[in-house]
Amino acid sequence: MSAQLLDGKVMSEALRAEIAVRVAALKEKGVHPGLAVILVGEDPASQIYVRNKGIGCEQVGIHSVTIRMPETTTQEELESQIRALNADESIHGILVQLPLPRHLDEAAALAVIVPEKDVDGFHIQNAGKLLNGLNGVVACTPKGALEMIRRTGVDLTGKEAVVVGRSNIVGKPMAMLLLQQNCTVTMCHSRTADLAAHTRNADVLVAAVGKAKFITADMVKPGAIVIDVGINRLESGKVVGDVDFDSVKEVAGWITPVPGGVGRMTITMLLENTVEAAEKLLVK
Ligand code: NDP
Repeated sequence: MSAQLLDGKVMSEALRAEIAVRVAALKEKGVHPGLAVILVGEDPASQIYVRNKGIGCEQVGIHSVTIRMPETTTQEELESQIRALNADESIHGILVQLPLPRHLDEAAALAVIVPEKDVDGFHIQNAGKLLNGLNGVVACTPKGALEMIRRTGVDLTGKEAVVVGRSNIVGKPMAMLLLQQNCTVTMCHSRTADLAAHTRNADVLVAAVGKAKFITADMVKPGAIVIDVGINRLESGKVVGDVDFDSVKEVAGWITPVPGGVGRMTITMLLENTVEAAEKLLVK
């Protein structure tokens, strides 16, 4: 392996220790940061994510509550639950676990969360702040991915960054964050002509596609920073990323593993966003 591993577990441990110190400082001032997660239905992957979020909270001392709602929950019931949490002073962060059952309107539900408690950073107001370079809540996955890129120590100014995937929750905010770091950013998607011609040019390559082992060694510039956001479950049950780790690690300069990469950092950033929300309340 020639690439250096960007280990999300190791980075997260260090960051969570720092977050725990901030939580303790808040508690001394009488504020106990609280995160509420709303889980609608029985999606098995969501159950695992929610459990891991609870473990993360416990690790750093954040008070966490999981509100489980049945698959048959109506839009009105969901929104009324969100409103109750908006008004709850013991809760600083609200997260609606996605995907919601099909009959529910995700965008409408997310819009009900007050932007200050939107620790996922999905509210349109927070997305707009990112676009405008204003201080809002940044979505956890791209925020964590950027933290991993920063920890390479590479000066990002003037670097070619390519983001494969243009979703509202990963690809677009990721591109905005890299732009803020003065990268020259190219966004690729399913209609991109000659994808490899773009990815081969990337000093920083972020894959957020949702296709197992999609990025192969011949698509990667030697020495590149390769960030694998993908989480794909193979028929065997094994979880792999969007990057063909075994071949790409021989070409890249830095690479994130799956699991133990961006996913771990995503939860860490959720904890950080919750603490930040509580801290902001204190200075108000
Ligand atoms: P979406 O399905 O919303 O977006 C996928 C993107 O990939 C789309 O923009 C799509 O293009 C693009 N795409 C699809 N096929 C191709 C192709 N052949 N060539 C180029 N681009 C293509 O996914 P998400 O952004 O929500 O998630 C992406 C991956 O990241 C998933 O594996 C997901 O599980 C994972 N994920 C991981 C997280 C973590 O914590 N690590 C958090 C969130 C997601 P188009 O827009 O044209 O359709």
